[in-house]
Amino acid sequence: MSLFDKTEEHSSLIAQEYEIAGKKIICQTCGNDAFHYRDALLDTAMASFFGMEWANKRAAILICAKCGKIEWYLEKPDVA
Ligand SMILES: [Zn+2]
Repeated sequence: MSLFDKTEEHSSLIAQEYEIAGKKIICQTCGNDAFHYRDALLDTAMASFFGMEWANKRAAILICAKCGKIEWYLEKPDVA
């Protein structure tokens, strides 16, 4: 099973700015504000690893366009 679901239409190839809970997301490592969005499918083992058996086994990840840091979210952040 692949971690990243490449079939999702809203996976973005273009780096965009995102916000969540009304706050713009800034990379904690390099301070960049542009991210690539991916849907991630968590398999059972991985969901267990994250203590997320209760979740729907989907997660949203943002990949910093500058340094590549991956940030995980349960819900897709809004496009800023
Ligand atoms: Zn970064």
